[in-house]
Amino acid sequence: MQDSDGNYLIPFVISGNYDALERKIIKSAMEKIAENTCIRLIPRTNQPDYAEILNKKGQGCYASIGRFPGKNVVMLESNDDQSCIQEDTVIHELFHVIGLWHEHMRADRDAFINVLYKNIEPAQYPQFEKLSSRDATTYNVPYDYKSVMHYDETAFAKPGKISMMTKDSKFQKVIGHPRDASSNDYKKVCAIYHCSKCMKQNFDQLVISDNIDLRNPVVTNTPIQQGDSDCTDRLGICPMLKSREMLNCKVMATFCCSSCSAPTTTTTVSTPTDTSLWSRIKSIFQ
Ligand SMILES: [Zn+2]
Repeated sequence: MQDSDGNYLIPFVISGNYDALERKIIKSAMEKIAENTCIRLIPRTNQPDYAEILNKKGQGCYASIGRFPGKNVVMLESNDDQSCIQEDTVIHELFHVIGLWHEHMRADRDAFINVLYKNIEPAQYPQFEKLSSRDATTYNVPYDYKSVMHYDETAFAKPGKISMMTKDSKFQKVIGHPRDASSNDYKKVCAIYHCSKCMKQNFDQLVISDNIDLRNPVVTNTPIQQGDSDCTDRLGICPMLKSREMLNCKVMATFCCSSCSAPTTTTTVSTPTDTSLWSRIKSIFQ
């Protein structure tokens, strides 16, 4: 849905219980996105597809990636135990809704980080899935340790361990501690939606000045293997989504063929804090 200025509108409702300061932080995150991209989060009236911001105990912070029919949950837990209401966290979850995946899951991430699987419980491996550039193009935006979409070094690691080591050691303590979205994060959003203005600049000029072409993403690696035709799960997270009844097979069938064709089971899978992964970036808001 676009307005007359060509901005993309995402209707939202805040159903969770938040105090005045928390609401202010949520609003400020939305305003930052509006200032820097062509996305506008607008209060929902009667739009069928919308984001619903919820605060439920024990649920943590998560959102689905991209647009789904009906209610799209953005879980922002806030209570005495934990709070997702920091501006960078709110922006992170809203970016999922807008279509961004995690930075450390990029196709080229192995050139920038080592994922230390020995320090991670196998049940959490899906959090470190590497996406093919076919599933999530990077729009030629360079890997960014400062991305608001990057986890920190201890994310999903065993106690006292680290799960990721940056190849450039000076960024080890930088990852996962953004104060704000990075300009590369905003560029990616602008590229996805073909925003004419990005970070208050003309998008085309921005492209030229940075010497990277955001308009023609080159999809390079990881063609689908021939073997995929025999219906496998191409994302490790498929079984977990299925167990949580979050697997939308209308959208995910090609990625989660095995899970989508298997009967529903009652397997219990541990619940990570951020269970974002869903649809393809390009399937949203077109
Ligand atoms: Zn996330």
